[in-house]
Amino acid sequence: MHQRTIRFWLTCLVIGCVLPATLGSVFLFTISYQQQRTILERNTIATARALMLAIDAELFGLQSAVQVLASSQRLASGDLFGFYRKASEALPNMGGNYIVVTDPTGQQRLNTLKPFGDPLPQLPLSAKLRRVFDTGEPVISDFFAAPDIGQSAITLEVPVFANGKVIYSLAMGIFVDRLGDILRRQNLPPDWITAIYDSNGTIAARTHKPEQYVGGKGSASFLRTSAEVSEGVTEVNSLEGVPVLSAFNRSLRSGWAIGIGIPKTALTENLWRSMGFNAAITLALLALSIGMARIISVRINRSVRSLRIPALALGTPELVSIPDNEIVEVNDIGQALMKASQIIRESVVEREQDELATQEIIQAKQIAERTSRAKSEFLASMSHELRTPLSAISGFAQLLGHSGDTLAREKRIRYTENIIEASTQLGKIIDDVLDMASFESGHVNVNCEVLDCLEVMAEVSRTLEVSARKRGILFTVDTSANLPSIVADRGRLIQVLLNLGSNAIKYNVEAGSVLLTALPYDDVVRFIVRDTGKGIPAERQREIFEPFNRLGVELTQEEGSGIGLTISRRLVQAMDGKIGFESFVGQGSKFWVELPMANEIAAKMARRPSLFATAADTRCKILYIEDKIPNIELMRAIIEDLSHTRFIDAQTVEEGLKIARSLKPDLVITDIHLPDGKGFDVLRGLRNDDRTSRIPVIALTADAMPSNMHNMELAGFHHVLTKPLKIPDLMEILRATLKAA
Ligand code: ADP
Repeated sequence: MHQRTIRFWLTCLVIGCVLPATLGSVFLFTISYQQQRTILERNTIATARALMLAIDAELFGLQSAVQVLASSQRLASGDLFGFYRKASEALPNMGGNYIVVTDPTGQQRLNTLKPFGDPLPQLPLSAKLRRVFDTGEPVISDFFAAPDIGQSAITLEVPVFANGKVIYSLAMGIFVDRLGDILRRQNLPPDWITAIYDSNGTIAARTHKPEQYVGGKGSASFLRTSAEVSEGVTEVNSLEGVPVLSAFNRSLRSGWAIGIGIPKTALTENLWRSMGFNAAITLALLALSIGMARIISVRINRSVRSLRIPALALGTPELVSIPDNEIVEVNDIGQALMKASQIIRESVVEREQDELATQEIIQAKQIAERTSRAKSEFLASMSHELRTPLSAISGFAQLLGHSGDTLAREKRIRYTENIIEASTQLGKIIDDVLDMASFESGHVNVNCEVLDCLEVMAEVSRTLEVSARKRGILFTVDTSANLPSIVADRGRLIQVLLNLGSNAIKYNVEAGSVLLTALPYDDVVRFIVRDTGKGIPAERQREIFEPFNRLGVELTQEEGSGIGLTISRRLVQAMDGKIGFESFVGQGSKFWVELPMANEIAAKMARRPSLFATAADTRCKILYIEDKIPNIELMRAIIEDLSHTRFIDAQTVEEGLKIARSLKPDLVITDIHLPDGKGFDVLRGLRNDDRTSRIPVIALTADAMPSNMHNMELAGFHHVLTKPLKIPDLMEILRATLKAA
């Protein structure tokens, strides 16, 4: 299908409307022109008739006056001299120019143009003059040029009767100028050519160029047409050659005619003027309409196109929003699209919710299944767990009972200690199970107060040190930092840290180590328990807080119930804190707990002399950002060997920057490849923050290519060290940098 734009169709619409209107107006104009022409023709004929009547009236009026003169007794009695005098006197009043009396022989008997008595000519009688003598009726002569008077003239001839016979013809001569005056008096339009013709078709008077054409014949075609009918209209060329519309009238009494020629250019000029005006208006209208059609089409186009993107967006789950449109139909479509989008969105949301719900159900089911399986395993092993300390208690108690007083003192003490340790273990198992039971029924009892972090850490360390020693694990606590007070439940916090610490010892490797430390972050204090154990496989990490889930260690000799971390998380959450961990197989794990700092007022109120508070820590702080635990441990060993330094570590860019902002270390050493970014990100992050922008940064990289080292120095690292680490190089750089700091 041949497709066209809206603009094209609108332009067609405009042309379709304007063009017929234009053709119609041209048609009407032509008809009106025809009508006007007919009216003009009619009016011109009427004018010609009126003009003819006026001339007739003039001539016949004069003829009557001449007839009165002809009835003079003097003439009839032959007193020609007396008549000569009387006629000469009367002539000016009558409007004639001269009087001539002729007898039937053609002999002029008197002529007022000459003195009476002068010899006068005898001329042959003209046809018209003979008619006067023959019929006794007056005639009007045709135009003639009288050579003796040097003027063109016409004469009105009337008979003079004596005894019933025509004895003379009395003629009054009128110069044709007088006819010209009659024409001029009519005030016709100046371009109309008007002429008076005698009965021979000779021009007796003319409005245009009379000196050239008066006395000559009218145009042949005009004379032919005007000879056929007494009045009418014809299209001819004037004597000057101008095409004219000529109206004429012929007097039946005198045989004379009037012709009025209207130049055709004058007639058509109006037509063309109107036509031109019409065409200009039409073109202007057409241009205006096309312009308006263009503006409207652009608006319609824009409106229609505005639906394109929302219509395409219908395929996506996004909610389509279409602003109000000025075109009702487009607006309706927009509303329909919005409704459709809403329906689609609702169904997508519904589907997503269904999917989510299904997923949640599946997940919950999996967890429930795992929990139930773990619970069954737990119950199965619980008897064993309970039986182990119980049998120890019962065994040692029996030994004590049976031996009576004979038992050596040391043995008694050892047996008693064994009984106490087993009952403590039993008590802990029972406490955990009770805690779990109370959490499951929705009760978490915490009693928060403002606490001294170091005091809590010292308390925890005492217990952990003992268990670590028993297992040959090196336990260290870093209680040297200046830490703000926190708000937490002391007993519960100790319970959580003991759980994390005992896990770190339990799941460690032979001769491994555990570090307990704490750092202030923004508005929290983070307690960290780091171990060098086996680590937790990534695929099982999400199960770690599930109750009764021991991630497979139930198959080993390690005692446990699989609910310690579940309880810890519930307790930390109840204290408005957070718990988390990072762990790498073969490297070890880091569990952390964040608890809110006490605000100033609460801290002041609770401030009491602390046995554990240390003097202000003036040591140089070195932050090492590295994700490989063995590397961290090596660096820790090196730095802790230096006097007056404190070692802090972070495993990610984010954690490193966070610690740097809150602790403001004197030096930062960073690995280049970190789990969430590069050493360059550490450098950029430190430089972009006013608090850390001046801290010197050392890069430690395994990539020892010279170009790479050069790039790092260019990037702004103070020094670039390569792995494996050359300790003397590092020491030298540390000494130089820290001295400068
Ligand atoms: P359990 O009584 O088994 O220690 P927990 O809830 O404390 O129960 O811990 C759940 C499981 O998480 C443990 O059984 C162990 O598999 C794993 N786990 C906890 N801490 C560590 C750690 N520091 N290193 C390795 N594995 C750990």
